[in-house]
Amino acid sequence: MTDLPTLKVKSNITIDTKQSSGRLSRWVAVGLIVFLVLYFVITMNNIRTIDERITAIKDGPYPVSVAAGHVETILTQIRTLAYRPTLTDPDRVIKSVEYSYETNNADLEAQLTLIKEQDDQNYDLAQGLFDDFSVLINAENAFIDYCSSPSVTPEEVEAYVNDNLFPVIDRMLENDLALLASTTNFIDESYDVISGVLLTTTIASIILILGVAASLAIYLTLIYRKNQRERQLRENLESALEIAQNANAAKSTFLSNMSHDIRTPMNAIIGLTTIADTHINDTIRVKECLTRISTSSKHLLGLINDILDMGKIESGKLTLNEEQFSFPELISGFITIIQPQVRAKHLKFDASLPNVKNEMLIGDSMRLNQMMLNLMGNAIKYTPEGKAVSIFIEEEPCERAGYHNYRFVFKDEGIGISPEFLKVIFDPFERENNETTRFTEGTGLGLPITKSIVELMGGTINIESTPHVGSTFTVVIPLKDGIDPEEGDDMAALYGLHMLIVDDDELVRESTHETLSELGIRNETSPSGHHAVEMVQAAHADNDDYHAVLLDRFMPGMDGLDTARKIREIIGDTTPIILVTAYDYNEIQSEAIEAGITAFISKPLFKSRIYHVLKLQCIDGGVETFQVVESAKDAQLQGRVLLAEDNELNSEIASELITQLGPEVEVATNGLEAVEMVDSADENYYQLIFMDWQMPQMDGIEATKTIIDHARRTGRNHPPIVAMTANAFNEHRDMALEVGMDGFMAKPIDVKELEKILRKYLG
Ligand code: ADP
Repeated sequence: MTDLPTLKVKSNITIDTKQSSGRLSRWVAVGLIVFLVLYFVITMNNIRTIDERITAIKDGPYPVSVAAGHVETILTQIRTLAYRPTLTDPDRVIKSVEYSYETNNADLEAQLTLIKEQDDQNYDLAQGLFDDFSVLINAENAFIDYCSSPSVTPEEVEAYVNDNLFPVIDRMLENDLALLASTTNFIDESYDVISGVLLTTTIASIILILGVAASLAIYLTLIYRKNQRERQLRENLESALEIAQNANAAKSTFLSNMSHDIRTPMNAIIGLTTIADTHINDTIRVKECLTRISTSSKHLLGLINDILDMGKIESGKLTLNEEQFSFPELISGFITIIQPQVRAKHLKFDASLPNVKNEMLIGDSMRLNQMMLNLMGNAIKYTPEGKAVSIFIEEEPCERAGYHNYRFVFKDEGIGISPEFLKVIFDPFERENNETTRFTEGTGLGLPITKSIVELMGGTINIESTPHVGSTFTVVIPLKDGIDPEEGDDMAALYGLHMLIVDDDELVRESTHETLSELGIRNETSPSGHHAVEMVQAAHADNDDYHAVLLDRFMPGMDGLDTARKIREIIGDTTPIILVTAYDYNEIQSEAIEAGITAFISKPLFKSRIYHVLKLQCIDGGVETFQVVESAKDAQLQGRVLLAEDNELNSEIASELITQLGPEVEVATNGLEAVEMVDSADENYYQLIFMDWQMPQMDGIEATKTIIDHARRTGRNHPPIVAMTANAFNEHRDMALEVGMDGFMAKPIDVKELEKILRKYLG
């Protein structure tokens, strides 16, 4: 059982699972906190340093330096006082000096006491000052006493001062200045320390501000990116939703189309069966019904095949065969299938492959045929009556050794495709909504299937289309070169013949000219009927008559048949005139014979086909190619077939179809019964076994294995076994051949295929 096609929702949703931005923001936050802590520590440390310095200055050096300043002033005053007793009125002066000494000494003592108490660092200096203070007081007292003597002269006073008083004062001044310098030093140094601390604080603040600003910038960027991602995600989700909704709508449309498309042929089959039943004695009517039932059944089968193909494509199970096939046979089979559709719509049709040299190729011919039928089928379906469709095939070099590229160009003058629809044309179930498609059968599966086949083959497909003008589908596929069985043939039989090619299409003229020249045929070309008649006339007059004329059917001016009539008037009845046409020639056969046509050759013109037709006509005596030759083909077959089939209706149909061709049929209703019937019969009693796959008790695969095994063990031959099954995929075919079956036939039974197999084994 194969699944129905599942709809793939194509979307480009990407959700960032790495969360790199989350990690980044965490690192930024941690960095910021570390910064803040560092800043706090540095700042607190700096404040503490400043505080310590200020306290140290306040408690020691500052008051000490102030006091030292005072001391300096006082000592200077005391020093100055020493000169006063030399002045006039010594008593009064001495009293005044004595008084000044007292006040200054009191002041000095206070300052020195303060210095001694406050200054720990300059203890020696402070102590020295303090010690000298007592010496100074004594010296002052001695000085006052000395000056009080009336006989002492100013010179003696001055000498006394210089010898006894000034040395003490100068020593004290010296110590005081040293103390002052020391405290000033300490204050300067503290100032430097505080400046340094202020600088580091300022730097730390700047770094912190920059850090905060950078973190803020990163944070804002992250938020912006996050918002952007969220917006992108939202958009993706919205588009995924839209795609899902569209897919769902397409699926619903598909189901309703399917229901309609399946019902239409089913309805026809049921209705026509009823009509045939009620007119059972009217054989013409019954035959007509049966023909139409057959058409509807084939349509239904096509539909089911498309759905199954789509299912396989979507589950990736579509595989390709690689086998050698004849390109001319493939193309002629394809043209035979499409000719009735072309005829029914009165379309102009052309098929050409001007430069295709390889006739044997390796690839999946069935899928190639499917691709061509889909694209040409669409071209025909979507082109109004009377317009033109064409297929053009070209062989091109390929990069892969042993391969050639084949360019298939399908052109039509149809309704065209809008640019909007071109965007979704390869999506499953999509059909353009217009008047034509509404009234044309279709599922929207043909193109997706075609595209998948082409891509699986390593090819490409392109569309160019203009609404109301037409479309061109171009497919390029690389195909492996096969081995031409006729390659060894020298094809020399036609050497030296003289021929005329008449075709209005320059490409066809040139390629046919080339092909004939390769075959050693001397040939001329003519673009029109009139001109061709003149050439025939001239050749006749020169006694160089053409041995054959290749004549295109449709040409402007004089068409192929009229040209043939005129030529016949000149050269009589014997020279073969071969009509080249892309159409089914059966319908013009009698008119053509009457016009003097000897044979037909269908377009496109392969070298082998031209060779065979010309050889037949010019060398082998010219058997008319359109004469249907009675052959052994229609003779009744003899023999006995064992049909292993559990379904009664299928068994009845198969039996009937087989017996119509001559052989007898015996039926086994399951695999086990089939094995028993073969075992109990004589060795060559059955000439063929058709084996169903799925059967109760023992399935076809098991039964085949058992029959082969029994035959080997008993040393007998077993009849050829051909699978006849609804398991119609390549893998089933491969499996059947693997277990030892001799052939494979898919249901529903194709009568021609059945006959081919019967003739192979019973003929
Ligand atoms: P179907 O023909 O069954 O509807 P396809 O997948 O083959 O499905 O094509 C899908 C759609 O593409 C068609 O329904 C039609 O609208 C459009 N189409 C395909 N081929 C042609 C063509 N040659 N000209 C115009 N429209 C086309």
